[in-house]
Amino acid sequence: MPSAFEKEKDNSLANKSEKITETLKRAILAQRLLPGAKLGERDLAEKFDASRIVIRQALIRLANDGLVTIERNRGAFVKKYSLQEAIEIYDALTLIEQGVAAQLAARLDRAGWQILQDHIKLQADAIEREDNDMADDLGAGFHSLLVSLTNNRVIQDIHAQVVQRSHLLRSLHISRFDYCNLLEEHSKIVDLLQRGRLKQVMELIDHHHHHVVRGYVMDFSDHPAMSLHEALSPFIAEGGGSGASVGTAE
Ligand SMILES: [Zn+2]
Repeated sequence: MPSAFEKEKDNSLANKSEKITETLKRAILAQRLLPGAKLGERDLAEKFDASRIVIRQALIRLANDGLVTIERNRGAFVKKYSLQEAIEIYDALTLIEQGVAAQLAARLDRAGWQILQDHIKLQADAIEREDNDMADDLGAGFHSLLVSLTNNRVIQDIHAQVVQRSHLLRSLHISRFDYCNLLEEHSKIVDLLQRGRLKQVMELIDHHHHHVVRGYVMDFSDHPAMSLHEALSPFIAEGGGSGASVGTAE
């Protein structure tokens, strides 16, 4: 049976690895560590003053969250999507939403249309007052709202899973979206749908998602890579990473 001391040591190692996970996550989501950046165990162990076992635990957690890929014999890297993967994610959203649109055009009632119109209005208001975060949330929420109006739990779940992947892609890769244009397309989709112009709606949904994919920066060769030290410094300075010092358990 582990002694009280050993238990305490285990807990403290687990806490340290959790803190390191959080710090790395923040640096990745702040896009200071860009997709493809190498997360060397030795460098991280030094930076965080932790053992490589603790670092490895943190990297495994990040891999489970989809933020890091661990390659045999090569080590860990910030997850990098290929253009093909990005296209596949948005193609999947296109197919689901086109099917949903066809169904809604045939059966949405007055209250349903009103829900969509209200959402469009909120988006437009957010853009008007330059509340970009709100416009962003409402913009992403439009697609889930559309799907929720089918009242089909299975379709909603599948859509939510794909949306989850798109969120991950979005948090890792720098994007340059033309928000106004994208939000204007939402309004057009609802308008065309309500008028039963299904063929145009299908084309617009396809165009809309292509538009989003084109907004992502997939090639980072133009972006000067920051060293691990530089990328992590602001977060560690705030006390995000260096918790209670525990002995190296290797
Ligand atoms: Zn959209």
